[in-house]
Amino acid sequence: MTRRDFEYIVIGLGGLGSAAAYWLSRRVGKDVLGLEQFELGHVKGESQDHSRIIRLSYHSPLYVQLAKRAYESWDMVGKEAGEPLVLVTGGIDLGPRESAIPAQTYMDSLAACGVEYEHLDAPEIMKRWPQFTLTDDIHGVYQSQGGIAMAAKGNAAHQRLARANGATILDRSPVTAIEHRGGEYGVTSNGVTYRGKKLVIAAGPWSNGALGHLGMHLPLQVTREQVTYFASPHRVEFMPDRFPVWIWLDDPCYYGFPVFGEPATKVAQDCGGKPTTADTRDFEVDEANAAGVVKFCERHLPKALGPVHLIKTCLYTLTPDRDFVIDAVPGHAGAFAAIGAGHAYKFASVIGRVLSELAIDGQSPSDLSVFGLDREILRMENPPVSYMV
Ligand SMILES: Cc1cc2nc3c(=O)[nH]c(=O)nc-3n(C[C@H](O)[C@H](O)[C@H](O)COP(=O)(O)OP(=O)(O)OC[C@H]3O[C@@H](n4cnc5c(N)ncnc54)[C@H](O)[C@@H]3O)c2cc1C
Repeated sequence: MTRRDFEYIVIGLGGLGSAAAYWLSRRVGKDVLGLEQFELGHVKGESQDHSRIIRLSYHSPLYVQLAKRAYESWDMVGKEAGEPLVLVTGGIDLGPRESAIPAQTYMDSLAACGVEYEHLDAPEIMKRWPQFTLTDDIHGVYQSQGGIAMAAKGNAAHQRLARANGATILDRSPVTAIEHRGGEYGVTSNGVTYRGKKLVIAAGPWSNGALGHLGMHLPLQVTREQVTYFASPHRVEFMPDRFPVWIWLDDPCYYGFPVFGEPATKVAQDCGGKPTTADTRDFEVDEANAAGVVKFCERHLPKALGPVHLIKTCLYTLTPDRDFVIDAVPGHAGAFAAIGAGHAYKFASVIGRVLSELAIDGQSPSDLSVFGLDREILRMENPPVSYMV
């Protein structure tokens, strides 16, 4: 019979929860239970597919510092897993000099954190990567450590290593009730109630469902996003040693990858999806979204195009200010929550590490000051939203 009493219970084993289970298990071994409602590696949430962009370049120093620790954390896990989980390709954030997402904030943050970068004009970008077609008003920030966080591999590594450390990892185990009584949590799944002293909730697009058991509801927007893989006839020019990850800093914001995981380029629009819910979403192709991606590539990245190899859908869980949630749940001592706001995969391992620090030590060396659950915008019913950061 599966054990029922644990010190730490993690709800949700996507990107963040798998990492939390791993980092907890590194320190407390078998005192960790992880519960996932679907099969491990399912594609109904946010963390599937081969690749996510990882980068130091961010709009605020706090994120740059967290990103530094993210690289360190992935490196530690990769070493233990015996396989790298990040592929460095270099990364370029580019767009019009006057744009919805100013590159200057990225450069200022990198400079403030002592990270080297290059500010490139359009001719220089096209000289280095002739795959781009750019007008003279375009500029970009190149940062050599940008690259790919290998999402599916990273999740599997966290789960495998957590088990190796003695954690109990249960799939097909939806949490249907959480009770906080007598200083501990009773967490019910498949008719069994597990007891734990500390709780980590990393439920992605189901966050309000899980947090609802603790009486909390957040103004989150779940959107159905989409990525397109193109079987480019110029595939060789887009191999990771010849082409960087890239982000188009404007509204609409596009991003893309070198060939990785599939024999194809990958391009997508950030926040290009329609509102949905985790339980009612579909997996159909959004033709308008796909057409937007093609139009962008025709203009700026024509050789990336080719027959559509694959279109995948995926969910974002957006906070109104697009900052993460990484915090203790108010009024419930020992319970912690994390929400990724549609850009957290690169940080998955370090967020798991931070959650383990909060749960075990009550504090973390990382600056979490903008990730609080008590921030005003999360207490509004209809908050103003700003997703372009
Ligand atoms: C198309 C796309 C592109 C992206 N690109 C990037 C990128 O380039 N770089 C980047 O850093 N980030 C990117 N992101 C964002 C990043 O992938 C997410 O922020 C991150 O994966 C969120 O992980 P999560 O663990 O919070 O959510 P999920 O992976 O969805 O995990 C939540 C898990 O909790 C489980 N769960 C929920 N409720 C329960 C319950 N009651 N009982 C048991 N289990 C439960 C779910 O089944 C799920 O497995 C992208 C996301 C998408 C969709």
